[in-house]
Amino acid sequence: MPIYDYRCDCGLRFERLMGRDAPAPACPECGAATRKVPSRPALHGTADVGLSREQMPQTWRGTYHGNREYVTAMQRKWDQRQRLEAKHPELAGDTRPVAAHEGRYEQVPLRAGDPVISAPAEPPAHGHGHGHGHAHGGGSGETT
Ligand SMILES: [Zn+2]
Repeated sequence: MPIYDYRCDCGLRFERLMGRDAPAPACPECGAATRKVPSRPALHGTADVGLSREQMPQTWRGTYHGNREYVTAMQRKWDQRQRLEAKHPELAGDTRPVAAHEGRYEQVPLRAGDPVISAPAEPPAHGHGHGHGHAHGGGSGETT
């Protein structure tokens, strides 16, 4: 039996071992109906479907402090992913914009619409956090 990915409106995503024509199971979190998400290798021979929004680096730390090659590779993956999501919207996952991704939100980014837990925020260690305003994405004319 193949393992399928299921997704619920509450945002939960889980895998189940299911018969090929079995109905989607109820969400283990909230009990609502879920829908099948095409599992990665099943996409018309497209081996690499890229990274979901959740998997994309949310901070500069996740990009090795803006390592140029890494970022370029990421952008390429991301472009590919977006084309794929255009065809398969169910892959898009949580598309709410990330409202905060620093400090205590680094592991779990705060999404628009999420309740803000009022815990004491970590004060920024120094005046400057990440990045310095340089290397702000976009097309650069440089070739290396
Ligand atoms: Zn649910």
